[in-house]
Amino acid sequence: RAMSTKVPERNKERSFIMIKPNGVQRGLIGEVIKRFEQKGYKLVAMKFMQASEEHMQKHYTHLQSKAFYPGLCKYMSSSPVVPMVWEGLDVVRTGRVMLGETNPGDSLPGTIRGDFCLHVGRNLVHGSDSIENANKEIALWFREDEIVTYTAGQYDWVYDD
Ligand code: UDP
Repeated sequence: RAMSTKVPERNKERSFIMIKPNGVQRGLIGEVIKRFEQKGYKLVAMKFMQASEEHMQKHYTHLQSKAFYPGLCKYMSSSPVVPMVWEGLDVVRTGRVMLGETNPGDSLPGTIRGDFCLHVGRNLVHGSDSIENANKEIALWFREDEIVTYTAGQYDWVYDD
């Protein structure tokens, strides 16, 4: 891509995608990353870490009133996770389509949850549900300088603008 050609803002949308503890434990890190890579999305940030329960409470603060909230935060901090930021056209909406429904039982084959899990409390991956929440989640998990700016070599073979 010529340096002078500007990437349209819509092709720079970002989503926060995280492989949950069972995705890591079940050896599915590569599988999840592969699907976003092969779709054409660009990885701009990634960590491998075990988060604290307090951090998970912040991540899921909107679910505070739910009965499953304490167990969810405990589970999510019980083992390593892979938080990531993926960039590209419609990545928030399309990322959710690629993940499948919250309940894996409602998820079609071909989606990550449809293909690799069966229980809502072990649904393998997290994905932001709106651009606003994506921005909040990215800020919770990554510092500004942990998000990498670079040109993907495949850009012109993925986009026509
Ligand atoms: N969850 C759960 N029990 C439920 C509903 C949700 O354990 O009855 C968990 C599930 O892992 C889900 C997470 O809480 O991914 C967050 O719920 P949300 O409704 O935000 O779903 P998501 O956006 O992750 O699809």
